Amino acid sequence: MHKIPVGVLGATGMVGQQYIALLNQHPWFEVRYVAASPRSAGKPYEEAVRGRWHLSRGYAPGVGSLVVADANDVDAAVAAQKRGECAFVFSALEMAKDEIKALEEAYAAAGIPVVSNASAHRWTEDVPMLIAEVNPDHADIIPLQQKNRGWSKGFIAVKPNCSIQSYMTPLWALMQAGYEVRRLFITTLQAVSGAGYPGVASLDIIDNVVPYIGGEEEKSEQEPRKILGHIEGSKIVPSDSPGISAHCNRVPVIDGHTACVSLEFGAKKPSLDEIKQIWQRFRAFPQEAQLPFAPEQPIIVREEADRPQPRKDRDADKAMAVTVGRLRPCNLFDIRFVGLSHNTVRGAAGGGILNAELLKVKGYL
Ligand code: NAP
Repeated sequence: MHKIPVGVLGATGMVGQQYIALLNQHPWFEVRYVAASPRSAGKPYEEAVRGRWHLSRGYAPGVGSLVVADANDVDAAVAAQKRGECAFVFSALEMAKDEIKALEEAYAAAGIPVVSNASAHRWTEDVPMLIAEVNPDHADIIPLQQKNRGWSKGFIAVKPNCSIQSYMTPLWALMQAGYEVRRLFITTLQAVSGAGYPGVASLDIIDNVVPYIGGEEEKSEQEPRKILGHIEGSKIVPSDSPGISAHCNRVPVIDGHTACVSLEFGAKKPSLDEIKQIWQRFRAFPQEAQLPFAPEQPIIVREEADRPQPRKDRDADKAMAVTVGRLRPCNLFDIRFVGLSHNTVRGAAGGGILNAELLKVKGYL
């Protein structure tokens, strides 16, 4: 099969490196274009990441010799598109929010679709914020987004914050089975890789917990409502429920965000056994539409009293599954459980790749 040539913006960063590594031998996509800050621009990729490659996996030999472009130079990406080297880009840029917003729009306006990890466009009304297993139908706003803005080929689709991945799919599985979820009380224990590199100073995080991650509680409380919303006219209208209260903490774990969740149902309440069955049976895609990065079992239920744990569970099913455990009654709400997912794979690059696969099968890429 002829592979689709793709670009990675922010290819030298924490998430960008995950993209480069995960796309090595991807059956549909091949990295042919890499871009980062002016500090890295002009260097071969292998030189730009020398001494700061964070992963145990490597990258495809062809990527090391690609010359890093300046991500601010949209014309360079357009020229690469004309040469057949960049049909669309994954955006893993870390810059001021307004700068990312304008830059991603410039790529889309120039005819290059953007599948983004950045938060800049998560609240833009005509931009879908996708978890492929939960709200794939939101991708159908793309033609309206293009019409609104006069874009012919380009568009922007984003993924949500990495911390909500650990409980959104379990939550959605219960809702899809017919159970209303009224309120959630969530405490997250978030890995240091979530802050990029170098992230939190080692002296601030070793032997410590930092009970504050700027903006993260607001994102955890608001983003689920957009994902659970619906398309009306040319906007995505967020759902007005569930009510969510979140505490977000940075903990000395390298990869893997954990969430301790208390959940209140509406009038109809499933038993603990029913909940386990709903989670175990949940499948997002029909067999024939299986996407290469989709986990075979999107929600893995662990029965051991002390699981999930980041080191033991974050890599489950290509590091794309959510692992849940400690399901038990809650004294204040109805149930409580612990959810865990890999933040730089499922919560970032892997989630972005899965979204791109979804957009391809839907005919947008
Ligand atoms: P990072 O490690 O700091 O990497 C940032 C990337 O952006 C690098 O490639 C950097 O290039 C490039 N960059 C920085 N300033 C730039 C500029 N002025 N112009 C062009 N490029 C510039 O950050 P990260 O953790 O990978 O995060 C990337 C994005 O993903 C962020 O928007 C973040 O919020 C989001 N995200 C991260 C996670 C996670 O778990 N880490 C999860 C979900 C979403 P140089 O190397 O040349 O400086």
